[in-house]
Amino acid sequence: MIRLSNVSKFYYSKGVIATGFSRVNLEFHMGEFVAITGESGSGKSTLLNVISGLDTYEEGELYIDGQETSHYTEKDFEDYRRKYIGNIFQTFNLVNSYTVYQNIELVLLLNGAKSKDVKDRVNSLIEQVGLTEYKNTKASKLSGGQKQRVAIARALAKDTPIIIADEPTGNLDKQSAEDIIRILADVAKDKLVIIVTHNYEQVEPYVTRKIKMHDGKVLEDEQLRPITKVASAPAGTYQNMTAASQIKTGIRNAFKIKQKFLLLLLIFLFIFAALTGELGAQRASNAQSGASENWFFSDSSDTRIVMKKKDKTAFTAEELAALKQNPAVDWILEQDMALDTTLSLSGENTEYNYTLQPRPLSTFKQEKLTWGRMPTADNEILIVAEKTGYFANTYKKKDNPMDRMTCDQDLTGATYVVTGAVLTDDPLPLQYTDKVGFAYVSPKLLKKLEQSGYADKSDFGCSFVGVKNQTIQIGLEETEKSAFPLEVCQAVQPGTILVPESFNEYAKGETIVGTPMTVTCVSPYFQSTATLKCISTYNEKNFSKKTGFSKDSYGGETAYINPTDFMAFFNQGAYQVSVFAKDVEQVDELEAQLKQNGYVTLAMKNAKYRQDQGAAKVANMMIVAFSVFAAVVLFFISYFVIRIVMKSRNVYYSTIRMLGANTRVCRNLLAIDLLTVTNVAALLFGVLWYVLTTQTGLTVLTEMGRSMHTPDYLLIYAIGVVIALLVSLRYASTLFKKSSISTLHEEV
Ligand code: ADP
Ligand code: MG
Repeated sequence: MIRLSNVSKFYYSKGVIATGFSRVNLEFHMGEFVAITGESGSGKSTLLNVISGLDTYEEGELYIDGQETSHYTEKDFEDYRRKYIGNIFQTFNLVNSYTVYQNIELVLLLNGAKSKDVKDRVNSLIEQVGLTEYKNTKASKLSGGQKQRVAIARALAKDTPIIIADEPTGNLDKQSAEDIIRILADVAKDKLVIIVTHNYEQVEPYVTRKIKMHDGKVLEDEQLRPITKVASAPAGTYQNMTAASQIKTGIRNAFKIKQKFLLLLLIFLFIFAALTGELGAQRASNAQSGASENWFFSDSSDTRIVMKKKDKTAFTAEELAALKQNPAVDWILEQDMALDTTLSLSGENTEYNYTLQPRPLSTFKQEKLTWGRMPTADNEILIVAEKTGYFANTYKKKDNPMDRMTCDQDLTGATYVVTGAVLTDDPLPLQYTDKVGFAYVSPKLLKKLEQSGYADKSDFGCSFVGVKNQTIQIGLEETEKSAFPLEVCQAVQPGTILVPESFNEYAKGETIVGTPMTVTCVSPYFQSTATLKCISTYNEKNFSKKTGFSKDSYGGETAYINPTDFMAFFNQGAYQVSVFAKDVEQVDELEAQLKQNGYVTLAMKNAKYRQDQGAAKVANMMIVAFSVFAAVVLFFISYFVIRIVMKSRNVYYSTIRMLGANTRVCRNLLAIDLLTVTNVAALLFGVLWYVLTTQTGLTVLTEMGRSMHTPDYLLIYAIGVVIALLVSLRYASTLFKKSSISTLHEEV
């Protein structure tokens, strides 16, 4: 069966050669029960390890069934071990977190059996070693004797012709030791059993042969009893662990040791949280810097093209009609200036102020409102806002009668009501973050907004025949150029102007009252004038009476006109219009077409990042560089932490290696183990992140959640998976660089 011919084993450590044993000649046969004795250090364990194929030898030849083994590779020995050898160790080497049943089942699964096919065999093995009532007890809970019985059952499970036991009773009390020996003697009837023992008396009644070693040499070799002739037993057959068993065992391993599972779960949660936080912050900051790029146009829809004529004249009705005909055009807005104003609503009974981006109601497409109804009157407004935004969070009037709201841009003081709202999940194309959404408004309000948009971009002058034919600069705001602010005031009669008393000094006569004044408005496209009669002046005393404003707003320099007169300045044709393309894809082509037709165009899609592109690019690059750096650091830290955690699994993996697992199986089991944790962590974090970004109302988190999309999450998940796979790969390969014996000894 097994023959050693002049076999020697040396150890090389730190330049010193130690002899394990030298020039040993022995032959073993089936049916033998061999006891090897000898003092400590005499080479017994080394001999068993060489016979088991767990360790290599340097000299001589080991024959197995007549075959030479000196040319064997590690893989050949692995094969040999699986076919021939069942090992029993002094230190048991059970998987402590597994039950008795699972420990025995494991060796069969590792050798290709299916878990449902091995039930009977495992149960009968358990019975054979007398542990039926402990079948479902964890190995860690067993006594030493019980553990050794499990180890025997496990060694027998594969049904190999050779059982090798190194001091199997060394850690046991007398009674347990005797039981174990009896079981082994029974087994030896049709196998070859070789045991090393310190206590020869104990085995004396059972063994068929005694070998005594001394100083690496065989000192005695004595046949004690005749052996029952046994035909050379066939070598065991085996296959590799099935995929199903690998998955089942891998998942089982993930949860078996609670502390390990929780620690790894925490690490992966940390990885996911850190990556999500980082990527989310980056995405959110990108979204925000994108939003502030173009501060001139506040409706930043990608489909929007702003256009004017080369000669800066107003569009004619035919030109507008032709634009509407263009198949690529979705809608066209003549009151373009309105789009770049903001509409702010504040109610009587609400503390909130809503800044919105106006849109013509006629372009509202979504049919289903989240609440309320469509506007029907001129003073009714429909709001489209983000589900997680300020409006949705603060506007609590959903079921109550609506607040009357005033719109800052409507100088006439009309009131408005919000009749309905659509709350969307998608981010809206709004330039300024303080805007809460779109307001779909009537043509009438849109016109008013257009006028206020023009007013913002216009200069005013006031000329009259006075002492020196003055032209006095007035303006909407007091600047160096405009000494006198111009404001609107409902109390001033249409067609008239109210000026401060100080204007009298410019008068031809004693008072300026009665003088016609020509107010000129110079807008980017046109100039318009109105002749308003000055019928009254005001001073500090009568200010409130004449204007209806509080005393506090008295400045003594402002000229007041009626809102209607003010708005009339801008009651002009369409000089600047916006077309909205049906599809972003069509924008470039449409713009080219418009250019060809002689228009000056600006596609919002391309205008967005024009502002300070260089600085934005550098900032962006720095953010990306930092993120990559942080991700790499995180990657390595987690990689090493996981490896340290997994190192605690050395015993497990060297054990299953000795039971017949090859590198691939170890790697797969480890990968499945880690991937299970990765997925649990991903699931847990997904739920957590969902709650954090949607339920807590924390702006930072909400903003992050909104700016991250499926590919971002997939990337983060993929990084987690890659870490898990890399660790398994590296760990398995370092594990297999050393022999399983030395890996095990590092631990024990
Ligand atoms: P036994 O099992 O009989 O007590 P061993 O087979 O363990 O003896 O050891 C035999 C000899 O080999 C001893 O001199 C021991 O020091 C040496 N030896 C065993 N294992 C190693 C090793 N891994 N490295 C170096 N020397 C070793
Ligand atoms: Mg020993």
